[in-house]
Amino acid sequence: MKAAAAKRSWRTALVLGAVLALGVGVVVGTWFKPAPDTQAVAVMQPTAPPATPQAAPAVPVADKVSAPLITSPASAASASKPTPADPSDPSDLSRLRARSLTLPVTGVSAAQLSDTYAQARAAGAPHEALDIMAPRGTPVLAVEDGRVTKLFLSKPGGITLYQFDPDSNYAYYYAHLDRYAEGIVEGASLRKGQVIAYVGSTGNASPDAPHLHFAIFRLGPERQWWRGTPLNPFLVWRDAKP
Ligand SMILES: [Zn+2]
Repeated sequence: MKAAAAKRSWRTALVLGAVLALGVGVVVGTWFKPAPDTQAVAVMQPTAPPATPQAAPAVPVADKVSAPLITSPASAASASKPTPADPSDPSDLSRLRARSLTLPVTGVSAAQLSDTYAQARAAGAPHEALDIMAPRGTPVLAVEDGRVTKLFLSKPGGITLYQFDPDSNYAYYYAHLDRYAEGIVEGASLRKGQVIAYVGSTGNASPDAPHLHFAIFRLGPERQWWRGTPLNPFLVWRDAKP
């Protein structure tokens, strides 16, 4: 009887132990369960931030995409003209007019401009630019967004600045500058209306007649800052609304 009771209590202990072990197993199991959960969250979180940096590089790509997109309306505009390579292509003018370029000299309006494009210059070379008279030191403004492609000191032009437009289709040339504005370096990006330099008379300009010599040319496929098809800036602003 005693032995049987002892056996029973031993069995009960065994069952109890098994139940306890099971319980511990469950408790340990549930206690460890959150770990994979946290791990899952930890894994999810690192995956989430890369999604944002990946979205960021998509912006420059979009910028690159927008370049052909900007060119396509241009080519669409020239679609009526089958030869966009024609130097006298009037679509160049309409394209530039559509950009409402800023007058490059502070305080000078379109009505004050006079056409000096066809004037003969020294050595009989055509002028192919627009002269804008202004007191020395008058701020010179970027006609549109773009970047500084070249800062160049030339004998005729003096201190000069070449700007490419955002699509590198056109170059804007500013010459006879007195000096560059602060922060103007080659490669710097420019905002329309930004002060880039000051009017002067460097180069072959008369010291008593400081002015901005401003030229626009359409770049060739090589995008060379010193070479292109000249366009008359005066015509870009002639019909501009004040
Ligand atoms: Zn000039």
